[in-house]
Amino acid sequence: MNYKSTRGHDVPQTFSEILLGGLAPDGGLYLPQQYPQISADELESWRKLSYADLAYEILARFCDDIPAEDLRALTRKTYTADVYCNARAGDNTADITPLRKLGDEAGAPLYLLGLSNGPTLAFKDMAMQLLGNLFEYALARAGQELNILGATSGDTGSAAEYAMRGKRGIRVFMLSPHRKMSAFQTAQMFSLQDPNIFNLAVQGVFDDCQDIVKAVSNDLEFKSRQKIGTVNSINWARVVAQVVYYFKGWLLATDGPGQKVSFCVPSGNFGNVCAGHIARMMGLPIDKLVVATNENDVLDEFFRTGIYRVRKAAETYHTSSPSMDISKASNFERFIFDLLGQDAGKLAQLFRDVDTKGGFDLSGTPDYERIRQFGFVSGRSTHEDRVATIRDLSSRYGITIDTHTADGVKVAREHLSAGTPMVVLETALPAKFADTIREALGREPERPAAFEGIEALPQRFEVMPADAAQVKAYIARHTGL
Ligand SMILES: *Cc1c(COP(=O)(O)O)cnc(C)c1O
Repeated sequence: MNYKSTRGHDVPQTFSEILLGGLAPDGGLYLPQQYPQISADELESWRKLSYADLAYEILARFCDDIPAEDLRALTRKTYTADVYCNARAGDNTADITPLRKLGDEAGAPLYLLGLSNGPTLAFKDMAMQLLGNLFEYALARAGQELNILGATSGDTGSAAEYAMRGKRGIRVFMLSPHRKMSAFQTAQMFSLQDPNIFNLAVQGVFDDCQDIVKAVSNDLEFKSRQKIGTVNSINWARVVAQVVYYFKGWLLATDGPGQKVSFCVPSGNFGNVCAGHIARMMGLPIDKLVVATNENDVLDEFFRTGIYRVRKAAETYHTSSPSMDISKASNFERFIFDLLGQDAGKLAQLFRDVDTKGGFDLSGTPDYERIRQFGFVSGRSTHEDRVATIRDLSSRYGITIDTHTADGVKVAREHLSAGTPMVVLETALPAKFADTIREALGREPERPAAFEGIEALPQRFEVMPADAAQVKAYIARHTGL
């Protein structure tokens, strides 16, 4: 299986070659040369597989340059009940992603697929944990090392740190705004004592952290000498790891071949729902892919109108579902490529328009007419909707959901069809968003046992001025390169 760029660069790459990299040389995103097809019989034969072995079956079709026994060992090491142990009482942690039925609404069985039982209580662990093991394996095989540099306002940084902690050949330098994360998020990251994890608390705001990462990455000599890399959401291996739980969700929600299931996905960078699109392209019987946004509704606007208009920083709202506060969806290009019938020239022009004109308009074109063939529909949700949905699920079904999942449930309810199961992806646990839970329910969210009292643990971090030169010096001192 080889990979090509959405913008046409035609030097095919293997899975291992694109694993550690980011964008293709022409600025495009990597996609497989064709999507592997899974037949109904094959799908039925997967019903009894563990999550780890299902992940193996799916990944093996995308990375034939990792020997089968190695890949199987990697998925079995990643997807264990020990790592995904934070499920709710009554959920089967051995499932890794337990499916819980809420009830029947408008004649449709409504489910939650629990993707947030990993170490940081958010779905990013599903892919990031595998990435940590894949990186360690690939680096050892190539005799290389990697220094990951990132900026975080909370979630992505902790998922990366928990995935890379203790991994041979890897260090993580994570910049976060000093004293600007919640006590819980700070404790989650800073309580890690692993010597390969470096938390840099920058005296500034999140944008300062991001500017420093950009400045360091733009110094190509430093970047190559210090072997600097990233783990951002366009990484192909992250996307493909997410394909697995659409198959798992489908298998858990059906009992025979050909039955259709819809998925509703709380979305920001379009990474999660892009994986759903790929599962559908592989032949998984998905009816609708429902894209749920919050007040930052770039994606909802596109799916409703055909107009993609990225937002400026001033138009990007800070909401109570902060991991969906995006103004430009970095994985969106992968779907648009398929929508355009994989016309790389046309795609390159549209994304040049994104850079120069702030977006593009497909309304009224045959391309936009095809959107429904891909199953996509969308909706948006607001803070009031989140609060009302959290309250409603608590009183109706006795379950507490987080703010992002609440956006998902709110929008899913607008797209139910009688007889078709609707699976809402639960992207975080409520323990992470105590303020809104308190507002909605007048009490604290429950915390998984492993997180009791983490705010009191010793913390390991370094306070730094918002200055790229000092961050570079710090990195060089700690890599010895
Ligand atoms: C990252 C994140 C999202 C958005 O996922 P994308 O892949 O960026 O669309 C939604 N919810 C939570 C809790 C997240 O951490």
